[in-house]
Amino acid sequence: MKNTNEMEIRFDSRSANEGFARVAVASFMTQLNPTVEEVADVKTAVSEAVTNAIIHGYGDENHKVCIRCRIEENVFQVEVCDSGKGIENIEEAMRPMYTTKPEQDRSGMGFAFMEAFMDSVEVESEPGKGTRVKMKKTVGKGREIWTTQSL
Ligand code: ATP
Ligand code: MG
Repeated sequence: MKNTNEMEIRFDSRSANEGFARVAVASFMTQLNPTVEEVADVKTAVSEAVTNAIIHGYGDENHKVCIRCRIEENVFQVEVCDSGKGIENIEEAMRPMYTTKPEQDRSGMGFAFMEAFMDSVEVESEPGKGTRVKMKKTVGKGREIWTTQSL
């Protein structure tokens, strides 16, 4: 049987919750014995996705953001979901430096950071329905993992 573990959190789309979301995901991830760098990568990616859900998905309205995490062996998967306005053209939205809010000093680099820091990023979105960003990262790549069984 595969070693799996899951958790789910739902919180208000307030920017005050960005730090909470980042830390909650990081603390769930610690059971994989990640390096400081691996945790920092996941925190950055989660921050970007949560900020997008709050700012772009819901605008100024207060609704719920959902995060689901799943661990399968040494693969860490995190999904950030909103039921907000959705994305018309996902390919265009994911292009580096593409932003629909240049007036708010957005640089359009959120998706580029997610792709740089995670092994894979998949976006599902429907205008008027919402957006789901699924990201994966294999933890402990290229490093020997010693368990009591292998000693
Ligand atoms: P930055 O992240 O650098 O501050 P940004 O948020 O505009 O700027 P990205 O995070 O790359 O850049 O997102 C690109 C565009 O995709 C956004 O400008 C927005 O139009 C759209 N987008 C991203 N996430 C969502 C979402 N959850 N709901 C609706 N639109 C989104
Ligand atoms: Mg962004």
